[in-house]
Amino acid sequence: YYRRSWSSESSDSVISSESGSNCYRVVLIGELGVGKSSLANIFAGVHDSIDSDCEVLGEDTYERTLMVDGESATIILLDMWDNKREGEWIRDHCMQVGDAYLIVYSITDRASFEKASELRIQLRRARQKEDIPIILVGNKSDLVRCREVSVAEGRACAVVFDCKFIETSAAVQHNVKELFEGIVRQVRLRRDSKEK
Ligand code: GDP
Ligand code: MG
Repeated sequence: YYRRSWSSESSDSVISSESGSNCYRVVLIGELGVGKSSLANIFAGVHDSIDSDCEVLGEDTYERTLMVDGESATIILLDMWDNKREGEWIRDHCMQVGDAYLIVYSITDRASFEKASELRIQLRRARQKEDIPIILVGNKSDLVRCREVSVAEGRACAVVFDCKFIETSAAVQHNVKELFEGIVRQVRLRRDSKEK
């Protein structure tokens, strides 16, 4: 699936030309187990009681249109960072194709927080000179007793990263909607400043 749809001009160019500038490819990255797929599932609406308007484009690609500040935006969410079946190329691919990134760590796992810094550096290296919208995401905020990374540390890290910061809980669905709205706003901010 991946090769067929991404190595050729097929689906990518169709998506971007059809939806114009309101379609954004958002990539989830971060250590295994931090909750990337759980966040993706909420985005995809698998927990919605009524049927969802999300389209599943592949086993780890989701598309959904949201209204943010009165303007619609389509997010294509990629959750394939941990997919090693296809080989290491998938991570290079992830680093190249995103219009925006969610770098996720778990607030209960300091190693995953340190990994987030590494990923930020890798991303900067892979996309030099580009001003890519990023949100640093401290997930599992419901697990208060197991917290290893404070809110202040997360926030300070985001300042160094020059990106936004949010704590979420996929388990209790806290701040997840805000996360996806936030990334749309970040992309728009850059788009609008380019147009001026
Ligand atoms: P991924 O490897 O980054 O895709 O992480 P998963 O989404 O597979 O989540 C790994 C484990 O953490 C699963 O058992 C999830 O149920 C759990 N998990 C994910 N998000 C949360 C959260 O916000 N709070 C809690 N308590 N558990 C979570
Ligand atoms: Mg996963």
